[in-house]
Amino acid sequence: MGLIPYDKLPNTPIAAVNSVVVKTGTWRTFKPVIHYEQCTRCMICWKYCPDASINLVDGTDYPAKNDVIKKAIDKVPVIDYDHCKGCGICAEECPVNAIEMVPEEK
Ligand code: SF4
Ligand code: SF4
Repeated sequence: MGLIPYDKLPNTPIAAVNSVVVKTGTWRTFKPVIHYEQCTRCMICWKYCPDASINLVDGTDYPAKNDVIKKAIDKVPVIDYDHCKGCGICAEECPVNAIEMVPEEK
């Protein structure tokens, strides 16, 4: 079978709104959990998330690897579970293994 020209392809369903509205977190089978007592606040997970599903928030209430880090860096990475798809890239890239992928409970 030969290639079908692009203008002969059938219509496909696409979302009429963007992913801020569509809660893609329901797609997950595994979810990332950050163990803050191991977190060094390097923010590598935030940089690598392909879904922009890690937010940096005021971190005064969160534990950190030590008090020096907690006092020096006032932001903390927090997973946005409404949109995280559970790809696991953040867990793979975390240099201190502070992110664990756990089975999603449905
Ligand atoms: S599992 Fe994937 S989508 Fe979810 S926060 Fe980590 S990198 Fe982002
Ligand atoms: S990559 Fe790991 S250590 Fe760095 S901010 Fe994210 S969870 Fe914390």
